[in-house]
Amino acid sequence: MTPPKPRPPVPCPRCKAPVLWWHSSSREDTMIGVDPSPDPDHGTVRKIPSKEAGTHRPVMYAAVLSGKELADAIASHEMLFTRHKTTCLANKPRNPKPAGLQIHRPTKRRHP
Ligand SMILES: [Zn+2]
Repeated sequence: MTPPKPRPPVPCPRCKAPVLWWHSSSREDTMIGVDPSPDPDHGTVRKIPSKEAGTHRPVMYAAVLSGKELADAIASHEMLFTRHKTTCLANKPRNPKPAGLQIHRPTKRRHP
């Protein structure tokens, strides 16, 4: 018997990038979307492989780290993943103005 393969990434409905959906380790009814490749510089999500109760199918949990926990994980070079909502291209501002094209409005002078 071969173990079932982990679920493949699902394209993000907004930017089409592949996203893995893991169960939140703190909220049972919440799924957390993460980018498939770990990011040691910007990652905040710890991957926690587990097994489904009863069926023993592999199920992935995600712990979103912050504060000291995150600092400790980074210090010990833990493999952390990035939440997709922080990298989703659909969240980037549309048509950002290049710095050189910003209009500088003259400040109003006060009449004495
Ligand atoms: Zn996206």
